[in-house]
Amino acid sequence: MSLSKRIEELTLELTNIKSIVGSKSELDSVNAVYKKFEEMDYYKENPDQLKFVDFENDPLERKSVVATMKGKKGNSNKTLVLIGHTDTVGISDYGNLQEYATKPFELAEKLKGVSLPEDAKKDLESGEWLFGRGIFDMKCGVATLMCIMEDISKDLENFEGNIVFGAVGDEEGNSGGMLSVVQDLVKIQEKEGFEYLAVLDTDYMTQLYPGDDNKYIFVGTVGKLMPSFYVVGKETHVGEAYKGLDPNQLAGAITNKLNLKFEFCDVAEGEVSLPPITLRQKDLKEEYSVQIAKTATLYFNYSTHKTTPDEVMVKLKKAANEAFTEVVDDLNDQYKQFCEASNFPHEELPWKPRVMSFQELYEAMKDEMGEELDTKIEEIKEELLKDKSLDERDFSMRVVQEVHKLWSDKDPVVVVYYSPPYYPHIYVEGSEPKDKKLLESVDEAVNTVESDYKIVSKKFYPYISDLSFVSAPKDPKIMEALKSNMPALDSKYKLPLDAMQKLGLPVVNIGPFGKDAHKFTERLEKKYSFEVAPELVKETIKNLLSK
Ligand SMILES: [Zn+2]
Repeated sequence: MSLSKRIEELTLELTNIKSIVGSKSELDSVNAVYKKFEEMDYYKENPDQLKFVDFENDPLERKSVVATMKGKKGNSNKTLVLIGHTDTVGISDYGNLQEYATKPFELAEKLKGVSLPEDAKKDLESGEWLFGRGIFDMKCGVATLMCIMEDISKDLENFEGNIVFGAVGDEEGNSGGMLSVVQDLVKIQEKEGFEYLAVLDTDYMTQLYPGDDNKYIFVGTVGKLMPSFYVVGKETHVGEAYKGLDPNQLAGAITNKLNLKFEFCDVAEGEVSLPPITLRQKDLKEEYSVQIAKTATLYFNYSTHKTTPDEVMVKLKKAANEAFTEVVDDLNDQYKQFCEASNFPHEELPWKPRVMSFQELYEAMKDEMGEELDTKIEEIKEELLKDKSLDERDFSMRVVQEVHKLWSDKDPVVVVYYSPPYYPHIYVEGSEPKDKKLLESVDEAVNTVESDYKIVSKKFYPYISDLSFVSAPKDPKIMEALKSNMPALDSKYKLPLDAMQKLGLPVVNIGPFGKDAHKFTERLEKKYSFEVAPELVKETIKNLLSK
């Protein structure tokens, strides 16, 4: 049977297995993947090269599959890492069709009786698409890698180099699968003496704008930070309005400085990252009263292509400082008008704009408290870890809040810090030998594979993914800015930064084509996905390992 036909069959088989992120069902699809490998002759002969890798501290006891395959030509230690995720998002978006969400053929029948967006309706009627939860994101990608490996395994005499494939779960959640596999990759590298060249993922690819006919390959990936602000104002009774400094006003001003502002988009080689966008803004007052809030918090999703955490921090502090200054200026202006109109004596308000990073707050307090501060911070974290209702964002904010409370200085201030998660961007510039090799291998694949499609190679996979975790900045200055400003790191939030730095690999995503990932109209276009994308993957693997 042809490769494309086998990929289609396995795609359907894997799609049929419900594997919703954060549930026990994730194990069903992982077990199915394991079983498929187990049935291959190669793994019957080399059972030690197929294994499960447990998630770290996972209440659901989830695991990933790691399959190693060694070529016999030329005894090469060059190795390519392949990854694919086996989980999907939930199915509640299918409403009363939930039971068909993972049954593409039945679902297609049912969808004929539902009112669909015009584009989805057209695709459904064309017969050239398959609908279903996870079929596009990314059961097809996993099936592609597995079928290609099966082909390779049948002709290892003529295959140069090695492959390590990780089928990981929890990608749509907290990347529990990838974060433990990353550490395992380092162990495999040391044990086998492999030289890793790159990481290839086959996650989904879609239109970048309406009517976009291009098919994309991405060499590199976008990154993400979560800039967060803890805003300390000055409380007052509403009857003495100008005596207070409202943290809500400061928070609002910060939002206006950052939210969707193009100047914070990261532009590299003409590719523009998404602007920052607020994910939360609230004051921290719990009850109703006629006293204004004393503190507020807000955080943003912040995409990166090339700007590092230390550089982002500089931008954030500048923006917060401007926002603070504008609020104080405006308050002074308003108060002056109020006094004049009321015939009251007027004097300048006492507020001084003040913004500091969490690191700077720590340093200021350290001068005051010495060693005791570190002990106190440890105690605060320990205490907060007990509260299971706090997520990683709340935990971070509470650490900042409790630490700030210990400070003798009670004047208004904005403290800037990072909440989890952190996804490093991977910018494959082409100056490093491995980067160059990957770029050339992909270009060559694009030029070799014949198709009617316009295949375009770009630099940043635009969707946050597990690809980010195979690299981390190596510059100590950058890491210091991250670590000292991310209070949840190494307590509530674990990131294997050492392993990520050790791998330090360039990445590529060569995915199937489809539309509407994470929507009930999720669908996969068959021709490109089963016939063209796999050839591009195959060629890239060959080019990389034989160069
Ligand atoms: Zn995905």
